[in-house]
Amino acid sequence: MPAAYPIQEHTFDMVVVGAGGAGLRATFGLAQKGLKTACITKVFPTRSHTVAAQGGVAAALANMGEDDWRYHFFDTVKGSDWLGDQDAIEYMCREAIPAIVELEHYGVPFSRTEDGRIYQRPFGGMTTRFGEGPPAQRTCAAADRTGHAILHTLYQQSLAHDAQFFIEYFALDLIMDADGVCRGVLALDMASGTLHLFRAHGTVLATGGYGRAYFSATSAHTCTGDGGGMVLRAGLGMQDMEFVQFHPTGIYGAGCLITEGVRGEGGILRNSNGERFMERYAPSVKDLAPRDMVSRAMTMEIREGRGVGEHHDHILLDLTHLGPEVIHEKLPGIAESARIFAGVDVEKQPIPVIPTVHYNMGGIPTNFHGEVVQLRGDDPDAVVPGLYAIGEAACVSVHGANRLGSNSLLDLVVFGRAVANRCAETIRSDAPHAPLPADACDKALSRLDALRNADGGTPTSVIRDRMQRTMQADAAVFRTGETLADGVRKMRDIHASFADVRVSDRSLVWNSDLIETFELANLLDQALVTIVSAENRTESRGAHAREDFPERDDANWMKHTLCWIDDAGNTRIDYRPVHAYTLTNDVAPVPPKKRVY
Ligand SMILES: Cc1cc2nc3c(=O)[nH]c(=O)nc-3n(C[C@H](O)[C@H](O)[C@H](O)COP(=O)(O)OP(=O)(O)OC[C@H]3O[C@@H](n4cnc5c(N)ncnc54)[C@H](O)[C@@H]3O)c2cc1C
Repeated sequence: MPAAYPIQEHTFDMVVVGAGGAGLRATFGLAQKGLKTACITKVFPTRSHTVAAQGGVAAALANMGEDDWRYHFFDTVKGSDWLGDQDAIEYMCREAIPAIVELEHYGVPFSRTEDGRIYQRPFGGMTTRFGEGPPAQRTCAAADRTGHAILHTLYQQSLAHDAQFFIEYFALDLIMDADGVCRGVLALDMASGTLHLFRAHGTVLATGGYGRAYFSATSAHTCTGDGGGMVLRAGLGMQDMEFVQFHPTGIYGAGCLITEGVRGEGGILRNSNGERFMERYAPSVKDLAPRDMVSRAMTMEIREGRGVGEHHDHILLDLTHLGPEVIHEKLPGIAESARIFAGVDVEKQPIPVIPTVHYNMGGIPTNFHGEVVQLRGDDPDAVVPGLYAIGEAACVSVHGANRLGSNSLLDLVVFGRAVANRCAETIRSDAPHAPLPADACDKALSRLDALRNADGGTPTSVIRDRMQRTMQADAAVFRTGETLADGVRKMRDIHASFADVRVSDRSLVWNSDLIETFELANLLDQALVTIVSAENRTESRGAHAREDFPERDDANWMKHTLCWIDDAGNTRIDYRPVHAYTLTNDVAPVPPKKRVY
């Protein structure tokens, strides 16, 4: 490829892309195990989206009442609407307890009970006695800034270990060899405009979600699913992308999140009649039903004319009855966000809220070691050598069709650690690196060159806006065959319109126009794969609610979707079976049942 693109080469045992909760936990875990590790991140580590997590992290510590990791396991399987892999869920819920103790020892400043234990609050879908008992107090919190506390602590731990950080480096593409082995990643140092090839025995994608495929999302503008984009371009399939979580309480208009912890502390959703309508939809757990159900109930209320405001198009979240003490001690950040973004004093007025895109259950398919898996011949669990994925970028799948609140921060630390443990067993430090073919980076460089010089008629921002509005309208809380088919058509056109993109800045130094164009390409592939997978799944399960197929259909659809996309934008779908078995005999698999709360 052109001499105009000199490449600096780095050789490591492991390279981690991403420095959110998942990436940092993996990075220092790998370094701790003696593997020479690089961590590449497009934003400064403590600016990763994990910093914004509010409500908490789940673990059955039983600090504030009866609990057991098996109850947590049951709730997570049920929450997933039986699409989660039960072996992975067992692993996560059992490992949750040591993982939280470990976080505490690393220095996370958790809120405390009177007797000095870690404070735990109720969260949606978290119950006791296999769903038969009262709500569990399982979500460990540092006030309403848990992600902030965890991310800063993990970064401090990373600095204490011998990992090398490459900050404000943007990963462009995976480097795969002819045998389908991942050999590293090509990245652009955004400050100097130089290119860097990271060769490694293992590449861990911890790049977070792709919430920004939608118009209104709680996630940061940097959540553009770059890992998933790289995986799709490498010819690998993405899993369960039709399952997009809408959080019930995004601030109306602004989109920022009001944590479920508010309802955990006793906050109540009300319609225009002042009615606590969740009593009708989930009589036993009410406002603490799982997110998919609450989002649907709110949408129904609005549709039936009981929304609030001038356009009757949103709902109120009332915490006025909680009193100043609870608000100051447990929800100070929420009081601030509501003041700034909704102009509301939460002690006196309810917060205007609406379901807002929040989390991607789908992602890069992995097993519970964090190894990327694909369908190969008869083997649905074939490992892609050298490639790993963790955190929101991955689909293990522990969240199945619907994630329970506070299970994501947990997923980050549990699988961040798991991947480090796995690589310590399977990768020998300083093992020689097989030579790379001379043209290993050519495809990625051609793409870089083409986008940098893209001279079409449509600015990046215009294509992005069309994509976000289409996804918001057609891959929404409720879906029908008609709107999905229409959405697929539109998304195919928008995807194709990327050929006409215009980048106006030709430099490689701090070219945010170019970076946003790379991000848009990643988003476009995943948006299309998401809506195609949604049109294909003719049942309702978890967050995927089809009005034309209102029931769950286990006989035909208890399986993971895999979806591929080629360079021309053609998509292909296949399936992997759900792991309906557990890892050990310590807990029995949960057979599918109707999901009521
Ligand atoms: C507002 C909000 C509140 C939440 N609250 C909770 C909660 O209370 N409890 C809970 O369990 N979950 C919560 N979640 C979900 C949870 O916080 C996220 O799923 C999780 O933090 C994702 O972490 P991650 O490590 O996978 O990715 P992120 O934290 O998103 O980090 C991604 C990393 O990848 C890097 N990266 C991405 N692309 C590239 C690239 N091309 N090149 C180089 N680097 C790249 C970024 O720089 C960043 O470091 C919340 C989410 C949001 C949005």
